[in-house]
Amino acid sequence: MDSCSVCKKEAVVFIPYSKKHLCEIHFIEMFDRRFRKTLREFSLLKKGERIAVGLSGGKDSCALLHSLVQLNLPLDLVAVTINEGIANYREKTLETAKRECKKLGIEHIVLDFKNEAGMMLDEIVKNDSENIPCSHCGVIRRYLLNKGAREAGADKLALGHNLDDVAQTVMMNIMRNEPSRLARFNTPFVNDRKFVQRIRPFLKTPEREIAIYCILKEIEIESIECPYTRFAFRAHVRSILNNMEERFPGTKFRVVNSFLEIEDALQAKYTKTGLGFCRQCGEPSANEICMFCKNIKMYKGC
Ligand code: SF4
Ligand code: ZN
Repeated sequence: MDSCSVCKKEAVVFIPYSKKHLCEIHFIEMFDRRFRKTLREFSLLKKGERIAVGLSGGKDSCALLHSLVQLNLPLDLVAVTINEGIANYREKTLETAKRECKKLGIEHIVLDFKNEAGMMLDEIVKNDSENIPCSHCGVIRRYLLNKGAREAGADKLALGHNLDDVAQTVMMNIMRNEPSRLARFNTPFVNDRKFVQRIRPFLKTPEREIAIYCILKEIEIESIECPYTRFAFRAHVRSILNNMEERFPGTKFRVVNSFLEIEDALQAKYTKTGLGFCRQCGEPSANEICMFCKNIKMYKGC
């Protein structure tokens, strides 16, 4: 067994991009330090803020909730879970979300697709064979998370998106030739009370390390994947990036860091194509009628 690169005790994990072996204590220390550094680097939190945590019940959002609680800052935390209605998946992660909130004493709000959009996702999927499930799911979930966070009185919405997710989003936007979307992905153009600012404190934390953190910190999570994942464009990009990371450790960091380097230039170029508000529902939208309202018509017509 290799020894920890810091203290020479038995290592439990090898970090390929830094070529370090770490014991449990030093891995957790590195993880927590990077979390706090990211919060400072991007000025993500202010004392006294009310923070809504988008809590899916998966490892990323559960680890995020624990990490925020552990900061011991004067923050007012509330968790928001969206129940899309995906059989054999969401019931289990919803249970995890409820349990973690109870354990940590966090207020928990659950919004479901049926009440808000008229149908659960499984039903929508049955009625629409043309579009992939994620295209509906993404639109409705984003809309509801913003609405849920705003109605909960939150100043910010913290998402569990990790380094892998962000690197995938950057590559997806490039592959789809959507630089204007990429420009507003991390820092939105609108500053309006209707739009709750999203923050991603795990932006620089690899997914694998969040999984290891959950095991070491005994955060019980459901390691279950959405059955619709295989349809997603993201799944292909994920596999390409994982392959690259294996051959060239540090690739995901380089993709995200490159994006952060050019983010200002992208924003300067695309400010005019920023978000406005939907004519129908008044929610933030890049188009005259937001995707949620367009989809709602379709569900009703289904
Ligand atoms: Fe929704 Fe697609 Fe994610 Fe499943 S994989 S939760 S359908 S976005
Ligand atoms: Zn050590």
